[in-house]
Amino acid sequence: MQRTRWVVGNWKMHGSLASNEALLEALKAGVQVGGATRAGVCVPAPYLAQTKAVLAGSALLFGAQDVSEHASGAYTGEVAGAMVAEFGARLAIVGHSERRALHGETSDAVARKAVAAVKAGLIPIVCVGETLAQREADETFNVVESQLRAVLECGDALGADFVVAYEPVWAIGTGKTATPEQAQEVHAFIRVLLRDAGREATPVLYGGSVKAANAAGIFSMPDIDGGLIGGASLVAQDFLAIIAASNAVAEG
Ligand code: PEP
Repeated sequence: MQRTRWVVGNWKMHGSLASNEALLEALKAGVQVGGATRAGVCVPAPYLAQTKAVLAGSALLFGAQDVSEHASGAYTGEVAGAMVAEFGARLAIVGHSERRALHGETSDAVARKAVAAVKAGLIPIVCVGETLAQREADETFNVVESQLRAVLECGDALGADFVVAYEPVWAIGTGKTATPEQAQEVHAFIRVLLRDAGREATPVLYGGSVKAANAAGIFSMPDIDGGLIGGASLVAQDFLAIIAASNAVAEG
């Protein structure tokens, strides 16, 4: 089954009106038109309007880095999926390890956020991944399975179009990338879980210190369908090179 290839940038809490404008304009100008990869950027919520305006007419998608599990109400500081979608956003990262670790998001809460994103018409990019301590204790598969199962149990509420990102926590922002073989091993495991859930077509992205220099090696693994890119998505030339690496793998 042919799965969609994706490269998505996660800006995290970086940016300013001036730097965003330069970055988005460079991406818009440089992104390959008609490439096989669906590419996008997930920006801090206050910059959604700017992103929509600058990317108008571009093939690049955009979205948020989190959404509330609630549709509306007394949830000070939270942002609803529908609010994000109103700006033309198509994507929402949910369950990023920084949110799990720093904001106490449980796998059940992440699942509710994924469903909320779908209800708002967004494509959720659900992040899963183990910490270094969990990997060293041989718990990688258990951790990834329980994080993913919580989401898969939502069944049809998850819609047809969702994306999984395997992001080993020890490789995020550390410069320590999983080797293509280490990543492939976990992706193959995730692929089996997805297939068992009848979700054969769900793309699984790798995230964790992907750079222009290592993207081709990672993306050429059979169960890796692209990348979720942090640091390197803040530099237009690097992010464009990563998208190009994905397109090149797709073209064989
Ligand atoms: C991320 O934040 O999702 C990520 C993968 O970051 P980095 O590429 O910087 O490791």
